Amino acid sequence: MDKELDWGNLTFGYVPTDYNVRCCYRDGKWGEIEVSSSDTINIHMAATSLHYGQECFEGLKAFRGKDGKIRIFRLDENAARMRRSAEGIMMAPVPEELFREMCIKAVKLNERFVPPYGSGASLYLRPLEIGISAKVGVKPADEFMFMIFVTPVGPYFKTGFKPSNYCIMREYDRVAPKGTGQWKVGGNYAAGIQAGERAHSMGYSAVLYLDPKEKKYLDECGPANFFAIKDGVYITPSSDSILPSVTNKSFTQLAQDLGLKVERRHIAVEELADVQEAAACGTAAVASPIGEIDDIDTGTKYVIAKDGNPGPVTTALYNKLRAIQLGEEEDVHGWNTIVE
Ligand SMILES: *Cc1c(COP(=O)(O)O)cnc(C)c1O
Repeated sequence: MDKELDWGNLTFGYVPTDYNVRCCYRDGKWGEIEVSSSDTINIHMAATSLHYGQECFEGLKAFRGKDGKIRIFRLDENAARMRRSAEGIMMAPVPEELFREMCIKAVKLNERFVPPYGSGASLYLRPLEIGISAKVGVKPADEFMFMIFVTPVGPYFKTGFKPSNYCIMREYDRVAPKGTGQWKVGGNYAAGIQAGERAHSMGYSAVLYLDPKEKKYLDECGPANFFAIKDGVYITPSSDSILPSVTNKSFTQLAQDLGLKVERRHIAVEELADVQEAAACGTAAVASPIGEIDDIDTGTKYVIAKDGNPGPVTTALYNKLRAIQLGEEEDVHGWNTIVE
């Protein structure tokens, strides 16, 4: 690198790296892994991904640990979810072994972009799969491109681990009741982009979506899952229209390890009045504590973080997860893949 990156001041944005990896599916099989130093791709203008949203993606992170080793967090979970997403929109699923090999290769080839231990930054991996066959009618492609690029990222929120506010707006849905909510597909993001921008313009971090069928229960926080702590119990919504977050799954386990009870169930909006802590969770921010939730339609304001600080359980879970990712604490659940 000409100049050392300013690791401490990275944002969640795109910083070019040296290489990305690609693999195409043609004639019913996956081909050879290609290494590229170009950050553009060349595809047919009639590709199904461009017109009919035949695209799915993943997001995971690699960390430089206390011992200097590089760890990729829960790669197998992301691989499995990506296969489910691909099958959900009629694309060829990427085999776990190929996904694993390409993640490791992408990290190794860009090792100099893995932020140092202690910087608070990490290397974000973005795998994506797109339909590349030219079709004019609505049909699934028969050729696909799977690629992974990596980019060093700082904390998702510049403000750090501090509570921020969310809003409930019933006039928007992210997904339909029997739609594509449980898959990580680009179309869900297109559907939520207007609501998200509106929430931002009103000073909120994101929209807290309700279940799209009855609008009675909490679903998720834009691009992140929701959990709350209520009388010592970790509660998180059970719903067919939310994306199963790997971070949420990890917190659920860690909460149990800390001796908390876990409930995955419907959470009615009004129950927000009785929770002591709440947070949005996902790979990008890990946990983002919630200060206030404003129900725009009813005018109800739920003040969660009464003293303006993250709650003790959210803080403990956040610290525990970070410690495992950074190799500061023993990885008892076998979540890390060490890149040798
Ligand atoms: C990616 C994503 C999440 C977070 O999932 P993680 O696996 O924890 O990163 C939550 N909700 C939606 C809609 C997502 O796309």
